[in-house]
Amino acid sequence: MDPISPLEQALHAARALVLADLVAGRVAEADVVSLVEAAVAGRRWWVEQWPEGAGFVAGLVAQDVQDALLERYGRWPLCPVCGSGDPHALEVEPELGPDPRWVCHRAGVVVAPVGSLGAALGGPPPS
Ligand SMILES: [Zn+2]
Repeated sequence: MDPISPLEQALHAARALVLADLVAGRVAEADVVSLVEAAVAGRRWWVEQWPEGAGFVAGLVAQDVQDALLERYGRWPLCPVCGSGDPHALEVEPELGPDPRWVCHRAGVVVAPVGSLGAALGGPPPS
């Protein structure tokens, strides 16, 4: 008798999606995971104030983690599409909306949905 609320589901899903993309980029180290936890915790308050925004949380958490990584770690995720030129990060679109995707603005392409970056990066790492 204590069903998981849609809000908790959204936060849990956001955490899982962003972690999947971090694993795909092989940056899911302990301190990076804690960045995701902090981003999810930060958005919990936001979505509690605005439950209609539950579907937007994954994209917001992805952007929060991206910002946090930029300060500590560097650009993430690096664009896997453009073979030449300066390395650059993908961006989340829409910035505030459902079904967030990683896009490369330089090439003007959608690279992958948030949570599915592994496929765009060439599948799981060799074991
Ligand atoms: Zn690119």
